Amino acid sequence: MSSNNNQSKLVVITGASSGIGATTAVEFAAKGYKLLLLARRLDRLEQLVKDSSNSLSFENTVIHQCDIIQVDQIKEGIEKAKKQFNISSVDCLINNAGVMLLQPLLTQPLSDQNQMFDTNVKGLLNASHAVLKEMVENKQGTIINISSIAGTKSFPSAAAYCGTKHAVHAISETLRSEVAGSKVRVVIVSPGFTESELLGHNEKENSEGFEAMVNSWEMGALKSKDIADAILYAYEAPKHVCVREIKLAPTEQTV
Ligand code: NDP
Repeated sequence: MSSNNNQSKLVVITGASSGIGATTAVEFAAKGYKLLLLARRLDRLEQLVKDSSNSLSFENTVIHQCDIIQVDQIKEGIEKAKKQFNISSVDCLINNAGVMLLQPLLTQPLSDQNQMFDTNVKGLLNASHAVLKEMVENKQGTIINISSIAGTKSFPSAAAYCGTKHAVHAISETLRSEVAGSKVRVVIVSPGFTESELLGHNEKENSEGFEAMVNSWEMGALKSKDIADAILYAYEAPKHVCVREIKLAPTEQTV
């Protein structure tokens, strides 16, 4: 159920064009929040907002084409949303944009490794930098970082990806201690394997091990709604409660 209070809150979601980010946008819209959705594929963001089967509309949503590596593009989007909604600050940033390119380090192109660090780590730092000052000044705000089970464990063929998600954990834990005194909350949500487009960016030979694992689970992988629900739970916890981390994985996932 939405409340009038929610309509005065601006929530920014990075990587909102598919998977977890898109579903999170739909869930937050249903609760009445004002949204800024960022991603490179503008057509997919448009499609999502135009889809009449969900609560998103151009009235409650600003979409902005943005490569998360470009901090100016993030700031432009935030300014556009503040102006459209007449809201002076971001109440929640969901750092969700990410890529997972699988391959042993020995053979993995450096460009793939750089893309993961640029997106998963530097992109997260860029977006956080764009909102932190005002959150600290206002003594209000929540940053939710989408890490992974790979943020505390490691998997074969995922050295660079695991490195990025371990970095997300380290950055989040440190940032939390830096801004706790300013009443700003830093939350980590760490999913296990979730149905999305994430694996699809890999050559078949690099992803088939993961696919075989998921296909062996009778109950399947998590759905993006499972993660969106966890994000919403953490955000909607009373302001004196900082849900520091939520880890959730398919029941049959052994690692
Ligand atoms: P998807 O591939 O479906 O979504 C990834 C999103 O990130 C897309 O919206 C994509 O948008 C965006 N993105 C990628 N690169 C950039 C960029 N340079 N600038 C802006 N946006 C970018 O995968 P998921 O929904 O699964 O992934 C979401 C997050 O969840 C990621 O951080 C991932 O690491 C994490 N995660 C996923 C798990 C899973 O099993 N699926 C498990 C654990 C964590 P576009 O291409 O339009 O720019």
